[in-house]
Amino acid sequence: MKAGAVTPSQRDSARLVEMAVPSPGRSEVLVKILEVGIDGTDIEINRGQYGEPPEDHDFLVLGHEALGSIENPGTTEFGKGELVVPLVRRPDGCVNCRSGQSDMCSERNYHECGIRGAHGFLRGYLAEAPGFLVRVPQELRHLAVLTEPMSIATKGIDQAIEFHRRSANPIQVALVLGAGSLGLLATASLRLQGFNTYTLDIVPKSSLKAQLVEAIRASYLDGSDSLITELPRQIGNLDLVVEATGNSTIAFQAISALGVNGVLCLMGVSTGEKPLEICADCLNMEMVLGNKVVFGTVSSNRGHFEHAAQLLGQIDHRWPGWLDRIITRRLTLGDFRDALQPTADGIKTVIEIP
Ligand code: BGC
Ligand code: ZN
Repeated sequence: MKAGAVTPSQRDSARLVEMAVPSPGRSEVLVKILEVGIDGTDIEINRGQYGEPPEDHDFLVLGHEALGSIENPGTTEFGKGELVVPLVRRPDGCVNCRSGQSDMCSERNYHECGIRGAHGFLRGYLAEAPGFLVRVPQELRHLAVLTEPMSIATKGIDQAIEFHRRSANPIQVALVLGAGSLGLLATASLRLQGFNTYTLDIVPKSSLKAQLVEAIRASYLDGSDSLITELPRQIGNLDLVVEATGNSTIAFQAISALGVNGVLCLMGVSTGEKPLEICADCLNMEMVLGNKVVFGTVSSNRGHFEHAAQLLGQIDHRWPGWLDRIITRRLTLGDFRDALQPTADGIKTVIEIP
């Protein structure tokens, strides 16, 4: 079978490789991969800025956002043709990993399929233990490839809401920074919960991203018009902020702009080494006097995947067709290298595996 791979640390190394179809072990199933979503992490890995191959390999098969169907259930309880989404993280032996929370791994010796130390899903078949597969309903066939990114968004948002409960005042204003696929999924999940939500990016109001924000009654803010630090004056106390650009300058502006009793969730990975001059005293004083919470979140576990699949169903029901519009490009495996070159108004590219 063909697989889409890179040589980690080497810029623009994406290429097709030939691999044997895996043979499942005794308690494993064979999964036919149907679709794989591409995100910023894949692009960074192909730029040589992130990612590690599995031990004894000099290449890494990409792809961590996948949808597959059970090809051969073996002796497991899966049925042939059932739809599944594979988990990304593979646990080490730490106490969090052992309790099913590899997303909170404390030793950081975990593997991440398609990212760190384990091959990803951009290939025809996968042999996998049932414990790493999450069932999704057939009705979600057209958008279940968004389950993994939705699981990342929902983990962060659920925790942010939990942290905000420290304060008796309800969340009045939620702000999402970045209208890429992660920012849009975060926006939809906040709107589903009824929050007054603003989403900021630096594309014009006429762009698809802005239209998608407005289509679910969130407000689009063009960040080229105003500084993030000026937003509180325009839209009020920033109670809940989700940083989904991965731009560290924006992350620090968001800390400054965060409201009293506010919670800022950082979910964008920045791979550079960019320095920034800040007023450390001001930041520290504001954080303390304002009872503010800033936290990072990475990865997601089975519970988040299951919740994500439910949310996708609810969003599709409430705003039919909206999630499909996030998928702006579909390519075949043979053209997967094109997916690693971002386009101006593109949002999510999905690779279809024949
Ligand atoms: C993936 C996560 C992963 C993170 C850091 C993200 O793109 O969605 O599963 O934990 O990258 O490697
Ligand atoms: Zn661990």
